Amino acid sequence: MRIDLHTHSTVSDGTGAPAQVMREAAAAGLHIVALTDHDSVDGWESAAATAADAGLGFVPGIEVSCRHAGVSIHLLSYWHQADDPEVTAMLATTREARLHRAREIVAKVGVDFPVTWDAVAELAGGAATVGRPHIADALVAQGVVPTRDEAFDRILAGNSRYYVPHYAPEVTDAVRTMSAAGGVTVFAHPGADARGRIVTTSVIESMARAGLVGLEIDHRDHDERQRERLARIATRLGLVRTGSSDYHGTGKRNELGENLTDPKAFLELEKARATGRASAPR
Ligand code: AMP
Ligand code: ZN
Ligand code: FE
Ligand code: FE
Repeated sequence: MRIDLHTHSTVSDGTGAPAQVMREAAAAGLHIVALTDHDSVDGWESAAATAADAGLGFVPGIEVSCRHAGVSIHLLSYWHQADDPEVTAMLATTREARLHRAREIVAKVGVDFPVTWDAVAELAGGAATVGRPHIADALVAQGVVPTRDEAFDRILAGNSRYYVPHYAPEVTDAVRTMSAAGGVTVFAHPGADARGRIVTTSVIESMARAGLVGLEIDHRDHDERQRERLARIATRLGLVRTGSSDYHGTGKRNELGENLTDPKAFLELEKARATGRASAPR
């Protein structure tokens, strides 16, 4: 059983439409796949329908942008009630903040490189959530850099002079909000320290107390040492170990199924969903 619980579509910064991601997942020999676009669930309906046609198990998910003490944190949530008012308000605020922030980054980058907001907006197309990858695409289109990767390396990285952060909810608040809406939450790539600052173990402990269910340990941004460290934390705090590709289509090197979630771990997530363990104080 091959289970991949973290993928992106054109609803955020992936390059394939939700239905296409599902077709690719089936072709890649996956059995269960989650769609987890940044701060939007707009892809759920289309992905669910296509997954059903392809005989693929579909898990509706999201990757919620969060912060703690200035550090950016990504929180995966599965199966939450999409129309929960607190969830929809939280996500709408973040998407709006992302839009303003993308304009600010484009204004700064535009001083030195041929990139305009109109070009970025057109490349983002119908995306519900705008991010730096769309600005990267505009830089690629202008021939400034050959790939998204190089755009991040040279211009858009978190420590670059062009970087602008955006508002995002405090991570423990987001865990509580998603859990209260029936979501099963998993801390995405908690040890990805090559791309930016990461939080200390004590923050993971606070998240666990708020209802966190799992840690995404098997992810390409974690080396063996980091995986061992996170596995010890997961065991100590009773958190489920998940794994995934964080697939973004042709926008990143990540391949569907390159990291997987063990079927036993997936059962634990389903159990947390069924018992509402995620929403109970722990
Ligand atoms: P943002 O959400 O606007 O801060 O942009 C960060 C997002 O860009 C991450 O969530 C990834 O999906 C994507 N990303 C980060 N690094 C890279 C990279 N080197 N190449 C392509 N996409 C990246
Ligand atoms: Zn992304
Ligand atoms: Fe992420
Ligand atoms: Fe992601």
